[in-house]
Amino acid sequence: MAVGTKLSSTQAEKNMSGYKPPYSRQEAVIEANRCLFCFDAPCIMACPTGIDIPSFIKKIASGNPTASARTILRSNPLGASCAQVCPTNVLCEGACVVLAREGDPVKIGRLQRYATDHVYSKAIEVLSSPVKKSGRRIAIIGGGPAGLGCAAELAQLGHQAVIFEKEELAGGLNTYGIAIYKMHPSVSLREIEMIKGLGVEIRCGVQVGRDISAEQLKEEFDAIFIGVGLGKSHHLNVPGEDLPEVVDALDFIAQVHSDVLHEVPVGDNVAVIGCGNTAIDALTQSKRLGANNATIIYRRGEQDMPAYGFEYELAKSDGGKFYFHTVVKEIVADNGGHVSSLVLQKSQPGPNGRPEAIPGSEFSFACDMVLKAVGSMKQTEMIRSFFPDLEFNPNGTVKLDIATRQTTVPEIFCGGDCANGGREVVNAVAEGIKGARGIHAYLSGELVESPLQPSRFGVNDRPSGSGFTNPIRVTEL
Ligand code: SF4
Repeated sequence: MAVGTKLSSTQAEKNMSGYKPPYSRQEAVIEANRCLFCFDAPCIMACPTGIDIPSFIKKIASGNPTASARTILRSNPLGASCAQVCPTNVLCEGACVVLAREGDPVKIGRLQRYATDHVYSKAIEVLSSPVKKSGRRIAIIGGGPAGLGCAAELAQLGHQAVIFEKEELAGGLNTYGIAIYKMHPSVSLREIEMIKGLGVEIRCGVQVGRDISAEQLKEEFDAIFIGVGLGKSHHLNVPGEDLPEVVDALDFIAQVHSDVLHEVPVGDNVAVIGCGNTAIDALTQSKRLGANNATIIYRRGEQDMPAYGFEYELAKSDGGKFYFHTVVKEIVADNGGHVSSLVLQKSQPGPNGRPEAIPGSEFSFACDMVLKAVGSMKQTEMIRSFFPDLEFNPNGTVKLDIATRQTTVPEIFCGGDCANGGREVVNAVAEGIKGARGIHAYLSGELVESPLQPSRFGVNDRPSGSGFTNPIRVTEL
């Protein structure tokens, strides 16, 4: 057994090709005509960015995919990637009335992909920024979905947004962290080009705290949006965790995005620790790169796993195996210092519901690669080091107004995984847009109301009882 490359380039490309093919024009029109164009459509309410779904579907049905894409991208500038990575069956499609009537919802995600593919493949520009600029400059720390959503909205409101991204490429999870057969990173990169076309400046390879200080940002910019996402995977805290074949699952997924596909090394027998959607991506990716066996080790039961049901089914159809109610006690090395097995132990819920190992139930599990997918750490200390005046919640997230994303320091706003603890890409985009509108209100005194769902974006929709009292400070332009 050994970690190495397993497949020819042709086979690797084939295994990693998309599992949901795009619609042809005819297929899209037929699917669009299944929509009932509901009044008070529940699909809109289920979309965190509030896309007017019946409106964009109607434009596809009437043969106008460009106008359809404009409707999508105006509400969600990352509408192309969200079309492919959103868990649509628990969001818009899960709320579709056709699901209840026919048992099969309108395929909103695939229609959204059809419309956005249309404009990107033909290089049609559907968004624009105003000619008259405000003269205000906003620094955005982090070029992931939250930062990009914020920047695109700020540009359309006439402000200059500058993104500071520590990686070589912007896009965050969309560029580096989604299994490649679900979405190719080129989808993310073309969205970034579109956002740059709005006048957004993106400085890649620039790390705040190393290449530029947070103090400099405060001096040079009128407001700051923090969208730094989450950090590395949590530690397993078991012996053997520092062995070379023990890898963060997100790093493994990122490798497929940055390296030559068939040259990405994978084990023969891969153990994935954790059972969220990243764990499933790591498992399916290792199988598709040629692993003989890929097994999820999860300390709780099947009904408790954070992964979506459709992800679970996908993993099983790829040949993935699951050990539920099982904890890792030790990662064992062979004489050469390489991973050779795990010591596992059965677990059961303790008195407080937390899994507890069952004494005497240890057993050995042969494997040569371990992928850690037990959740990512919050970047609380890093953010605190940038901005010592910020206040934090007891769980380590930044204290803020959820409607405007304004923190307890008036000129600093925050959104995305670093603020919500880790949700979907579309939630991060929505929080970025809210942040941009909050910043606009802070800088100009003008409220931006969504024509569709003012309550989602309006700056006055702070939830009652939230206890948040920090008012938006309105400044003169
Ligand atoms: Fe169309 Fe379904 Fe939305 Fe109704 S709920 S507008 S049928 S997509």
